[in-house]
Amino acid sequence: MAKKKQKARRKPGNQGKPRKGILLYHDMAVYENFERCTQRVFKIVKGAQENYPNAPRRLVLDVQGHRSDEGGYDRDAWEVIRYFVLELLFPYLTSVSTPLAHIENRKRQRNDLPAVLDIAYPGDDDSFWYDVDQLPVRPREIISDVRKSAPSKGAIADYLGMSADPACLVCWHRPAERAHVVPLSLGGSMDVRNFALLCEEHHREAPDIADAEGFWAWVDYAEMRDRGSKWEDASEDVQAMASSLGARIGRADRSEADFMEAVKFELIHLYGWGDVDFSGFSWELYEEYHRVLDAATGKHFGVEKKVSTHAWALDVALYRVNRDAKTRSRRRRRVLLFDTLDANKQPVVLQKHGIAGGRGRHEVETRPEEDPPPQTRS
Ligand SMILES: [Zn+2]
Repeated sequence: MAKKKQKARRKPGNQGKPRKGILLYHDMAVYENFERCTQRVFKIVKGAQENYPNAPRRLVLDVQGHRSDEGGYDRDAWEVIRYFVLELLFPYLTSVSTPLAHIENRKRQRNDLPAVLDIAYPGDDDSFWYDVDQLPVRPREIISDVRKSAPSKGAIADYLGMSADPACLVCWHRPAERAHVVPLSLGGSMDVRNFALLCEEHHREAPDIADAEGFWAWVDYAEMRDRGSKWEDASEDVQAMASSLGARIGRADRSEADFMEAVKFELIHLYGWGDVDFSGFSWELYEEYHRVLDAATGKHFGVEKKVSTHAWALDVALYRVNRDAKTRSRRRRRVLLFDTLDANKQPVVLQKHGIAGGRGRHEVETRPEEDPPPQTRS
């Protein structure tokens, strides 16, 4: 990761005399999907525009994993680079560096980036999401490697863009274990793309579900939830510095929470459930919940009740109960980013935002804020 960053930094563009500016860096992790990645990068660029409007903005984007069957980038990463960074964001930047291209903007960077990024799904909205009616196995890889044994930890680390000493994707602790994305018992493959590296604790916590995008969304969520633990081993000085920059030291204490409380927490923060969803509990939902558990989840380590597996099953069950396309669509766009929680822990809702990685073309557009402040000057 760090190596690539330096490489990108050393490229000053081809005018010979690079203008100074702010370096905006984002690493599209293997667990990050199109929706989360674009919203995060958008937020970074917007923040820089607001705080330092006159400083040239230089965006560096790295991508980890996200490989297609042909060895190029998968649909999500490709669209992030091609349509989002190089097309939509480009006018608002002075330069962009991506794994595919480094480009200097010869025009002046624009300072009118709209307030909100919307993501629209063309045509059949449903095809972008896990098929909650059929409950199929949905791997991320389209054509799986036919190998019969699991790839080595080194091979997985290499795919994930990690250096020699593989660490947990969530908390960076070592040693890391190989974790199936879609479990073997549900038909998951031995393809390197069907593996994550997790420490023992996070491996035991990760969901055993038929949907690879659901698994990766959980890793993304767990990384945000537990990121404070990355600083636990740092020196006091470094912890103090991280803390002053807004980092949480140590992980959130969840030991007190009982099982259903923990499921509830995950439904709110990973699946965007609100009061209306919780108040919709019914026998029908309960039956569907068990149907989903039976058909599309597995058990691992003999852990009978895994919070993450049960939260996913409940969320899928709620979709199955709400068959109305509009209701489903509204719920899908209400998915939250845990890292946008404000100081009062109230979630900030981002519109048109999905969990699942799409396989088709995403339409991305920006628009002004919903309620622009009234014009005071005439
Ligand atoms: Zn971990």
